[in-house]
Amino acid sequence: MKYSDIFSQIYFDLENRPDLGQVASYIPELKNVDPAMFGVHLTTVDNCEYSFGDSEVKFSIQSIAKVLSLTMAYTLEGENLWKRVGVEPSGTSFNSLVQLEHNKGIPRNPLINGGALVIADVLISHFENPKQELLNFIRLVSNNESIDFCERIQASEKETGFCNAALVNLMKSYGNIENDVEEVLDFYYNLCSIEMTCKELSRTFLYLANNGIVPATQQEIICPSMSKRINAIMQLCGFYDEAGEFSFKVGLPGKSGVGGGIIAIHPHKYSIAVWSPKLNLKGNSNKGIWFLESFTSALETSIF
Ligand code: GLU
Repeated sequence: MKYSDIFSQIYFDLENRPDLGQVASYIPELKNVDPAMFGVHLTTVDNCEYSFGDSEVKFSIQSIAKVLSLTMAYTLEGENLWKRVGVEPSGTSFNSLVQLEHNKGIPRNPLINGGALVIADVLISHFENPKQELLNFIRLVSNNESIDFCERIQASEKETGFCNAALVNLMKSYGNIENDVEEVLDFYYNLCSIEMTCKELSRTFLYLANNGIVPATQQEIICPSMSKRINAIMQLCGFYDEAGEFSFKVGLPGKSGVGGGIIAIHPHKYSIAVWSPKLNLKGNSNKGIWFLESFTSALETSIF
């Protein structure tokens, strides 16, 4: 059976389940999305592609972009990066302040907000124009010049980003932020405002399924060992305090965003992007997780 046939079969099975969850509203602009949207796109390392539903509609990838900024910072800093941010699961929500204080300003991992803010600080320290460099990097990895920030989302997040401001100020007080906190926040909001379709997202993350090389261009983004490590961080830390559950149910490394997107990687095989905006209580796409659980169960393959 082709992947696209499996997609439609799973989708129709999902229709019989209760339509649970809420669209994220703490960033006002994220509310303006049709909650019924549902898209999937899978790209294999040998460039075969399979789609279902609203797979060519752009959405806010939010925290999924943190994997891309992490990749960029890792190439610049190498193993020194881990002096400023850990690689342990957080077991707490994405914006927890309590844990950050306990860990004296060193965030548990780069995929929670505190960690992504440190990564933002690292990138700002490296570049004259970090925003443009970030965009150039994402366009290189995605092999797509049309990828861009969304000003509306960025502005909306800035208006209500009090918790992120608290996180970055706390880390600054511990000496783990080098640059001006407003500059770090601005850069971070731009990062989170990136928009992609499921098709673009799945293609973008293929380098992590292919030992760090973009299959379409043969461009080496990172070495195989770095690719292994980023996959490991996604496996352990990609879903806030639901990372264990995702690993248990789906069995693939992945990352979610509060826009309702999820990317999951099957190393050496494929990368799959799913989008459904309604989130569960942990802030992850409700249908997205159900879908991926059914998908790896139907295929009877995961990394385990
Ligand atoms: N931009 C969001 C925030 O900082 C990211 C949250 C997410 O997708 O996990 O709250």
